[in-house]
This record gives sequence, C-alpha cells and structure tokens, in this order.
Amino acid sequence: MTTETFEFQVEARQLLQLMIHSVYSNKDVFLRELVSNASDALDKLRLAALRDDVPGADVSDLHIELEVDKDARTLTVRDNGIGMSYDEVTRLIGTIANSGTAKFLQELRESKDAEGNGDGADGLIGQFGVGFYSGFMVADEVTLVTRHAGETEGTRWTSRGEGTYTLERIPEAPQGTAVTLHLKPADAENQLHDYTSTWKIKEIVKRYSDFITWPVRLLPEPGEDGDGAEAREAETLNSMKALWARPRDEVSDDEYHELYKHIAHDWRDPLETIRLQAEGTFEYQALLFVPSHAPHDLFTQGYQRGVQLYVKRVFIMDDCEELLPPYLRFVKGVVDAQDLSLNVSREILQQDRHIRMIQRRLTKKVLSTVKDLRTSAPDRYATFWREFGAVLKEGLVTDSDNRDAILAACSFASTHDADEPTSLKDYVERMKDGQDDIYYMTGESRAALENSPHMEAFRAKGVEVLLLTDAVDEVWVDAVGEYEGRTLRSVAKGEIDLSGTDEDKSDAEKEKQGEEYAGLLGWMTEHLGEDVKEVRLSSRLTVSPACVVSDAGELTPALENMYRAMGQ
Ligand code: ADP
Ligand code: MG
Repeated sequence: MTTETFEFQVEARQLLQLMIHSVYSNKDVFLRELVSNASDALDKLRLAALRDDVPGADVSDLHIELEVDKDARTLTVRDNGIGMSYDEVTRLIGTIANSGTAKFLQELRESKDAEGNGDGADGLIGQFGVGFYSGFMVADEVTLVTRHAGETEGTRWTSRGEGTYTLERIPEAPQGTAVTLHLKPADAENQLHDYTSTWKIKEIVKRYSDFITWPVRLLPEPGEDGDGAEAREAETLNSMKALWARPRDEVSDDEYHELYKHIAHDWRDPLETIRLQAEGTFEYQALLFVPSHAPHDLFTQGYQRGVQLYVKRVFIMDDCEELLPPYLRFVKGVVDAQDLSLNVSREILQQDRHIRMIQRRLTKKVLSTVKDLRTSAPDRYATFWREFGAVLKEGLVTDSDNRDAILAACSFASTHDADEPTSLKDYVERMKDGQDDIYYMTGESRAALENSPHMEAFRAKGVEVLLLTDAVDEVWVDAVGEYEGRTLRSVAKGEIDLSGTDEDKSDAEKEKQGEEYAGLLGWMTEHLGEDVKEVRLSSRLTVSPACVVSDAGELTPALENMYRAMGQ
C-alpha cells in the first residue's frame, strides 16, 4: 500500500514547534494524555457495544497496555478500544480539532502581540491541554497504528513533528490504537526523563491515572536469557477505584484534580470539588467540579454541556445534559447511578423521574457550595463570580424554584465600592433610612453608567446604585422584580422618588415649580413631537439640564437593541 505525505495545518505546526522546543516544566504529563485518550477510546467502544453499534468488535478484555523497548528506546501506549478509521485519523490527528487548543494558540498569539516576543509561551503552555501532541515533548518520532473496531482495514500515521506527517492504509492491525514514541536521545542521560524506566512509568501512572476505570498494564521486558515476555505476567499499575465511590478522607485533593483534568480535558486544577452521595431507594454518587476558568465557547450554541453519566461504574455517556440546568453548564463531573438501565437512552433520560430528582439535588448542592464559598474563601468566590457570574444569572430568569438560592450566590457591581461587588443582602443592610427600593442601572460598562445623568441625584444624595452590565441583567431584574420585599427599581425608568432619603423640596415648592415651567414643558413636548411621550420636571438631575427616561414598564434602550439584534 502507498504512503502519502501531508502537511500539518498551520496551527498544528505552530503548536508542534512549541511542544518540541519549549522547555516544558513537566514532561511527564504526556503519558497522562495518551492514557486518557486510550481510556476514552475504551469507554466509547464499551458503549457502542452495549448499543450493538459495532458488530464484530471484541470487548472481552478491554485494557490499556504499556510496552517499553529499552534497546530501541521506544514506549508504546496501546488500547483495544474503538480505534479510528482512516478518515478519522485525518480529521482528528492532523488538525487542531480540540477547541481548547485553538484557544491556547489564540492566547499565545495575543501574548506575543502584547509583548512583541514569545516569552509568554512557556507560562501558557502549561495551562492548556494539547492532548495527543504532547507526545512530541519526549519523542522525536511518533507512530500511531489504529483500526476502528468492526472494520477490517487499519491506518498508520507517522510524524517527526516537523511540518508533515504520513498516512498509510494497512491491511492488518489489531483492534484499537497503538501510539509508539521514539524517545529523544537527549533524554537518555537524564534519569528524570527516562521513560524507558519501569519505575518511572509506574510512578507516573500511579500519580496521574490511578482512577482510570480500565486496567493499565505494563508488559514485562524480555528477559536476558530469552525466557520471553510470555513467561512473565503483565503488571496492572492502577487501582481502578472510582474516586466518587471512595470515602472523602481516603482521597487526596490531587487525585480529585487529576480526575477533573481527565474528564474536563483541562490542564488546570478545578476551583472547587463537590461530592455528594445519595442513599436509599435511588442510590447515586456524584463528583462535581467547578472549573477555574470559563471555556471560551460557554455562550455559543455548540458548547457541549453536561456531566458524565455512569451506571454502576460503567461509563454511559459524556455531556449528559439532563443532570444539570443550562445555567450550571460550566460544571463538570461524574454522576454514577445504581438503578438505571445500562442501555438508557437520551429519550428515557429526558423523562426519567429519578434523573429530575438528581438534577434538583445537584442544583441545590452547587448553589449552596457557591454561597458558602463567598464567606469561607472570598478569593475563590471572586474568581467564580468573574468567570461564571453571567451564566449563573440566567438561572434567575429560567429557574424560579431556586431563585432565592441563586440570588444568595450572586454579586453585583455597585456604586458603594469601585472594586468589590456586593450581595443584595449587604446592599439592603446599607440602605438609607427612608429608602424603600433597591436601585440599579443597566448599561454597557461601568464607566458609561457612572457618567450617566440618571446617576446624578443618586450620587448627590449618596444613595447606592447597582451597576449591571451583562446582557442578561436586563432580563432578570424584571423577572425577579423584588428582593425580600424591596422592589428592584431602575434609575432610568419612570418617576424616581428620592424624597424620603433626605430633606428634599416640599410638595408645595414642587407645585410652584411645576406652574413656573408649565409653558416651557408644553412647548418642548410640542416641538419634540413623535420622539417623546412627555416632557416633565425631574428631581433626578443635579448637573445635566435634561435626560431621556423610559416608562417604568418599557424596554430600556439596551434591551431594545438586544431584541432588534435578535430580529424581533
Ligand atoms: P482530546 O482528547 O482533548 O479530544 P487529543 O489531542 O488528546 O484531544 O485527541 C484528539 C482526538 O483524537 C480525540 O478526541 C480522539 O477522537 C482521537 N484519539 C486520540 N487518541 C485516540 C485513541 N487512543 N483511540 C481513539 N481515538 C483517539
Ligand atoms: Mg486527549
């Protein structure tokens, strides 16, 4: 069969160059990435077999195998999972399929633009998953041989990571995927990077991949006197214990974090780990993670939300959307239910009463965890809010059952403090005598709001105003309406009465003023014609001569724009 040579996509080539040349501080993680991919491939095959999607596939002994050849200086990571077809290899391996990687490159370019050089690269490379390509940190050539389960033909892919790769169809290959790394000669002298050392390999697997639910086996090296590998047993390196089923005090934070990285395809530690166990008639365990960074596609249509669903330790699906509401779509993790059928379908999940029960329970737990974080770890809460606040607020509109719990987890920028956002609770505690309502203003940016003429009277009287700048803010304030009996009132809508807050003009004075200006107001109303509904005297301004105000029930300008953009 013929071997064809292809060029890497430009992005892929840049990434490979970085991989090869950057002095990445922890090369060991390449093995975690390859084992993680192998584990995913086994999960996928197990699931396809359950659904009878892969006739002819062998699922009798699914496992991951590591093989070292000291003389050739190679390390092979092999799985007998789902494998890849020729087309899949082209699509998945020669390109940048992984969105995290695309994001990585974008940030890298931005950091270069900013600094005029590539100094940011080493810091950044540690923060983003680059999966399969990480093999090039330790290898100067990588070979991948794969056969999709159920197909007959296999594919061989090779590359030295220098701009091109070759592809070849091969008549025979074992089911699944084998990745062989030709280790860099430079690392041979360095004990720290000796990936032909069984001691080293055992240590890495134990550290990063212990929880993997498939056996990771290390094949024995051939003996000196030719007694052959067959004579000795392969050694299973991982405990395969499901972390979510183990008591919390037996599991270290690091172990939880490694599981998070595996399922979320993230290289950074999570912000928070949430563990939940339900016993009784419907038993399940959940291990949820709040990431430390919002993914860049969180607000796009294609964002894959959801947690992994297991049934009795068997992986059933990624991205199970039914287990958490859309406004908690940033949460990652695992739910393992004892009493679902192994071939449960999406349709069944959507209607299942137990799934809805789990969703309710998980939602409450996540919300209470965030609320607690606010007092127990203000720094981490601040990170949470910066990354996920705008998403969480969607829940104020869509989930009225949990509205109070969501509000308790929310923060809002406010005129009270330029840096620290406030809770509604604290706002109410600071309210002035005679102030009945909670005031807010929505708009594009904090600066724009602070300079708005609507703010003048509030500033003059020292009345605090919440400054809401997310698109969703326009919507939730109307949906929620009030907090603990206090009306949420826009400073830009309708009549505002701040008279209770200090010694204002008396009613008689106002009346007199009204008469004085009646002529002018009438004249203005007439000349502005269709453009305004009414011109009236206002107590909201102290410096600016005039401002435009909506009726209390009307759309604000920003919301009008939003609806117009949506074509309504
Ligand atoms: P990610 O795992 O985050 O998707 P990777 O770079 O690690 O990114 O892998 C890219 C893709 O290549 C995977 O999503 C998968 O589809 C495919 N792949 C990688 N390794 C294997 C494997 N051992 N078996 C089957 N498919 C694989
Ligand atoms: Mg991967």
